[in-house]
Amino acid sequence: MTTNIDQPIVAFELVKTAANAPQTEDQPILEAVHENLARPEFLQGATYKIKPPIAEHALYITINDVVLNQNTEHEQRYPYEVFINSKNMDHFQWVVALTRVISAVFRKGGDVTFLVEELKAVFDPKGGYFIKGGFMPSLVAEIGYAIESHMQQIGLLKAPQLSAEKAALIADKKASLAEQGVNLSEGFPDSANWCNLCHNKAKVTLDGCDTCLNCGDSKCG
Ligand SMILES: [Zn+2]
Repeated sequence: MTTNIDQPIVAFELVKTAANAPQTEDQPILEAVHENLARPEFLQGATYKIKPPIAEHALYITINDVVLNQNTEHEQRYPYEVFINSKNMDHFQWVVALTRVISAVFRKGGDVTFLVEELKAVFDPKGGYFIKGGFMPSLVAEIGYAIESHMQQIGLLKAPQLSAEKAALIADKKASLAEQGVNLSEGFPDSANWCNLCHNKAKVTLDGCDTCLNCGDSKCG
């Protein structure tokens, strides 16, 4: 590619790239996100819809990724920017500010997974709200869960795995409930209580013992 320089050169710096950096077979130079990375023309993304009961309209959270080390064994999608759209303009100002700050953190590079825990830990002073399958401490937290889900999708975060012991316990309790004719088509019975550990409406009492059918927390398992 030829670049015409039609202005005097006043300064220059050497850009480290895979091509001019010393490279060994053991340590290939990998692409990473850093603040000087130019935004690629094309980004792949995903949009997550959330419908918090405190908002009049649904919110659409779009996260676009850059693909690093494409077509190599180190290929990795990495979040680059986030946008949130909604018909509801009530929260518009702080939502725009929040997405710009999150995008800026993404583009600084490094490990950005800490953002998920920061956002999920935000509690609404008005008390949060219940969504299908769980309690949401705030709208900010729900945005955090959407970003977490995206990071799991692209393999940046691992979804928490149940231990074999807990999975077996849950399967055992579900089998007992099914025998009693309890409807489990929604995953958990309607009569289930809130689990204080995973915040899902999934805690059942069986044989005098409280067990969460989502996270496997049990007082006597
Ligand atoms: Zn639980």
